[in-house]
Order: sequence, then C-alpha cells, then structure tokens
Amino acid sequence: MTSSEIERPSELKADPPALIASLQLLPSPTPNLEIKHTKLFINNEWHHSASGKTLSTYNPSTGEKICDVQEADKADVDKAVQAARQAFCPGSVWRRMDASERGRLIDRLADLVERDRPQLAVSVQTLESLDGGKPFLQAYYVDLQGVIKTLRYFAGWTDKIHGKTIPVDGDYFTFTRHEPIGVCGQIIPWNFPLLMFAWKIVPALCCGNTVVIKPAEQTPLTALYMGSLIKEAGFPPGVVNILPGFGVTAGAAIASHMDIDKVAFTGSTEVGKLIQEAAGKSNLKRVTLELGGKSPNIIFADADLDYAVEQAHQGVFFNQGQCCTAGSRIYVEEPIYEEFVQKSTERAQRRTVGNPFDPATEQGPQIDKLQCDKVLELVLSGIAEGAKLECGGKSLGKKGFFIEPTVFSNVTDDMQIAKEEIFGPVQLIIKFKTMEEVVKRANNSQFGLVAAVFTKDIDKALTVSSAMQAGTVWINCYNALNVQSPFGGFKMSGNGREMGEYGLKEYTEIKTVTVKIQQKNS
Ligand code: ADP
Repeated sequence: MTSSEIERPSELKADPPALIASLQLLPSPTPNLEIKHTKLFINNEWHHSASGKTLSTYNPSTGEKICDVQEADKADVDKAVQAARQAFCPGSVWRRMDASERGRLIDRLADLVERDRPQLAVSVQTLESLDGGKPFLQAYYVDLQGVIKTLRYFAGWTDKIHGKTIPVDGDYFTFTRHEPIGVCGQIIPWNFPLLMFAWKIVPALCCGNTVVIKPAEQTPLTALYMGSLIKEAGFPPGVVNILPGFGVTAGAAIASHMDIDKVAFTGSTEVGKLIQEAAGKSNLKRVTLELGGKSPNIIFADADLDYAVEQAHQGVFFNQGQCCTAGSRIYVEEPIYEEFVQKSTERAQRRTVGNPFDPATEQGPQIDKLQCDKVLELVLSGIAEGAKLECGGKSLGKKGFFIEPTVFSNVTDDMQIAKEEIFGPVQLIIKFKTMEEVVKRANNSQFGLVAAVFTKDIDKALTVSSAMQAGTVWINCYNALNVQSPFGGFKMSGNGREMGEYGLKEYTEIKTVTVKIQQKNS
C-alpha cells in the first residue's frame, strides 16, 4: 500500500480509463447515487436515532449535500453498548464460537468487500470517493486494497492467539490465556473512512471482542455500507454496532461510558487527550490512541535526487495532504537545497487537481470548508513569518474545497507552519548542514509518528533511523505501510500499536492461571 506506486489488483489489469468505463462511471463529481443505508446499525438492525435527529453529509467536490443520516448521541450509545455487551456475554453465540469460525466470518466479510469493491469505490455506492473527496483510483486501489488485506491478514490470526506455559518456582503449573477485552468503543476520522474502519474493527473481532464504532461525522456512509456486509457475512447480532454522530456527543459518550472496556481512537492530539481523560475519569478503560504528526523527511545530498523529489512530493501531497503521516517537514542537505526546491516546485505545479472521478486527477478537494480555511490560514501565517511561497497558496475554483498544491522554501523551525500539523497540500522545504544538526532538529517536535531518510549511505541511514523519535522510520521510501507491520506513535502522536502481531496485544487481556500440583508418590 504505497502511495507512489499504487498497486493494481491482479484481477483488474485494466488501465484507469478502461476501468472507469467498465464500471460505467461518468467522469462527473456528482454521479447518481442510490444510498441505501443512512440509519444506525445496532444488533444487526437499522435504527432511527433516539432523539430523532439527523446529520447531513456533503460532497466536498461541490459543497452540496449528499443525504441526511441518523445522528447518534448518548442514548443510542447506551443502546449499542447494551447490544455489544449482550453479544459478549458468557455463553453467547460469539463467545462460544470456535476461533477458526471467527476467522471464517472475517474471511467471508473480505469476500463480500471484494464482491462489492467497485460499488464501494464507485457507482451505486461510491461512498468512499464521494464522501471523502479522494480520487476514485486511490479509493479503489489503495483504500479498498488495504481494507481487503486487513481482513485477510487478521482472518488468519484468529486461531493463533495463544499464551505461554511458564516454568514458575515451586509446585505449580502456570499458563497464560490471551482473552478478549470485552466491548470496544472505537472512534475514527474522515481521512481514510473505510480503511480506518477496517483497522479498528478487524483486529478487535479477530481477538473475540465486540465493537461500538463511531465514524467521523463527515464520512458516515461507507461505515454504514459495511454494516450491511457484516450482517450478510453472518456475524451474530450486536458484535458490531455502527453509530454515526458528532464527537462531542456520541464520541464523548463512548469515551466516558462505564460499560465499555477499551477505547481505540484515531484523530487529533487535542481530542486524544480528551479521550484519555474521559477514560481515566470513568472506568479506566484501556486506551489506544493514534494521533497527529509533523513528520520529518530527511534528504541527504547523496540521495537519488529525482526519486527523492517524487517520494517527498507523494509523501506530503498524498490524500490531499490529509494524512497523519504527511512528511511536511522536508529537511534537505545544503548542497542540493536549491535544486531540490526547484524540482519540487515544478512537480507541485504539474500536480493535477480536480474532479475525483477523472482518472487523471491526483488531488481532489479537502474534506470540508473548515479544513480548507484552516489550511489557507496556516499558509498566510507562513507568508507573514517570512517563508518563501514557491507556488500555490490559494483556493482553487468556485465550487468545492480545492487548494493549489503549495510549496514553501526558506522555512525555519520556529515558524507556525513548521510546528503545527497542516493536514493539507502544503510542502515545507528546510535547509540543513550536518547529520547531528538535522537529527536534533527533526526530533524537536511534540509529535513522533513517522520519519524518513533518503541516502545511499547505509551507515547514515541506520544511524538516523535509530536516532529518530518516531514509531516508524522509512529509509529511501515513504508511506510504505502494510498490514503485517505495527503502526503507531512516540510522544504526543499516541500510544499503542495497530496492525501486525503487535496490534493484537491491544485487543487482549492476559490472564495468568496457576495450578497447585500435589506431588504423588509413584
Ligand atoms: P479532525 O480534527 O481531523 O476532524 P478530530 O480528532 O476532531 O479530528 O476527530 C476525529 C474523530 O474524533 C471524529 O470521529 C470525531 O467525531 C471524534 N471526536 C471529536 N471530538 C471528540 C470528543 N470530544 N470526544 C470523542 N470523540 C470526538
């Protein structure tokens, strides 16, 4: 799942225009959609919200409303938690189910996502592209591929989660069991709506937990579509419950709920702090957080320049810059600084921005007006603080929330743009002279999600990678995420790890069982 080399599934080798034609997708930002699921998904049934309230979801390409969705708040969270608790009760179908059968259900869900992959990415339910504004081909190849790989990977883990026997002192036999935690509350953001949905629910289900998940208020539709597939796959009622709603109401109710055993959150550092606080003030539920970043990407003078320019470009502009991993602080060694700036500016100027359904589009709109305004405000602060605007910096078009790909040079570490997460298509290019200096400056951030280094010198690469205070370090690549390896942050980028075997640890409790052995004379 790399951003720069979008993988094409073997079953669909068609080039993008042919694929679009085969899916009968008109290159229109507002294709005709029949949206089937707009209610809350509780106990495998569709429910109106207790309050009768709805929330609206918008198409970021046009700013127009797509539809209204039932809006959950505390009363609906209570109802969903009850359903999830019931499904988790000792003796329930879910608790008695063989682990291998759980794996079969997850595999079945993967089959259904593969079956509906075109619909999930386009056509009748083009919810991911439409809802998130991301280019259709990215939704199809990157996001959907990631969802399917997540399902397949964890489907294989269900019956391989086991403890140890431990040679303790004395006449005892001791073993550990890795048990599911219970009811897991999960809160996800809007930048990868379907992928984050999978990253959250699949490991939880793999370990035998039940789930109450709240998609972001901006992107509820793909999550609800998944509800219909979860039911069709045969998951027992109450195992997964899906509640579109706002953060301060439904999200806060999840974080402070007394009968939720664990909360997993992806989103801003600011909200992550609130979640941790709410967990502490309620029932000390387990908390995992995947939060913001301000990731450094270090380019040494010996790197393959054109390759590094392209990787650095993709590393920040991928998904409209709306990635927690965005490599927005690009540190470039002095001898190649000017050339790097020039080539990066040319590349940004060539970036195609527009209709997400046009196969030539590399960049769609930002998610909403709020985010768009926030990014443009930060751009203005960069100009005011003396950074040199090489290109971009303005909104684009009359409709929707498009922003020109923007490059700043002569950025210094103390500027607001160099410290705050921008979450938009804005690249900052910063000069450095020595390795010691750049390591220090790169680590001088409250965040520690990812970092990257580009060099042909293996000693330099490994020295920098071990010095970086970040959960992931990429050497000569960027955004090379995959389902088998753990992902998460140091410092204020969060705690806990998702994906890979490490990710399972976050969804199990370890129980120690000790048996006294009565010695028998033989
Ligand atoms: P962003 O700024 O990228 O929208 P947020 O951290 O605000 O990121 O949102 C990520 C998720 O957190 C969304 O599902 C949102 O509804 C939820 N959220 C926002 N505020 C709260 C809160 N106070 N408590 C719980 N969840 C929240």
